Amino acid sequence: MKLLQELFDANREWAEGIKKVSPDFFKRLSEQQSPEYLWIGCSDSRVPANEIVGMLPGEIFVHRNIANVVNHTDLNCLSVIQYAVEVLKVKHVIVCGHYGCGGIKAAMENREHGLIDNWLRHIKDVSRYHKDEIAAIEDDQERFDRLCELNVIEQTANVCYTTVVQNAWKNGQELSVHGWIYSINDGILRDLDLCITGLDQLPDSHRLV
Ligand code: ZN
Repeated sequence: MKLLQELFDANREWAEGIKKVSPDFFKRLSEQQSPEYLWIGCSDSRVPANEIVGMLPGEIFVHRNIANVVNHTDLNCLSVIQYAVEVLKVKHVIVCGHYGCGGIKAAMENREHGLIDNWLRHIKDVSRYHKDEIAAIEDDQERFDRLCELNVIEQTANVCYTTVVQNAWKNGQELSVHGWIYSINDGILRDLDLCITGLDQLPDSHRLV
């Protein structure tokens, strides 16, 4: 196991490395942040937002939780979305799931995992919305992969259903919402082609006027 001191040592080395390339990097960042992207991803240690898209501090605003869930009563996630959209005025919100997600796998099971089962209920809801499609997939791995994708699709829609995002569109703010999925097997991101850029792409039932 790594000693905690090693983390501090690595931090010094990292900060020195950045300052060598860009001496005023941290001073500039300390004055303001203006990221263009909000990333909503899974807490999984294998899916670090900045690293997989090659971004430095200051370039991407990040919210992560188990299985990248966007729930309309989660004040934590909603506050992140509000700050990112209304104050930072990000241009893109990216919901990024990943194949092999432990949260999705646990939600596919019927055994008890403790407190987390209450969170994973959101994923069980996703599988219920798409039960016919899920049930028709015979291969276990394929079914698992597809639920990871469907969860991204549903959580991307949930971002669009928030009052924050709908108000931004009503006010003419340029904002697009995307659903991506990352493979921990090859390190590659895939776009699920869900780019949503305005109220007209939402179903009548969820469009607030
Ligand atoms: Zn995950």
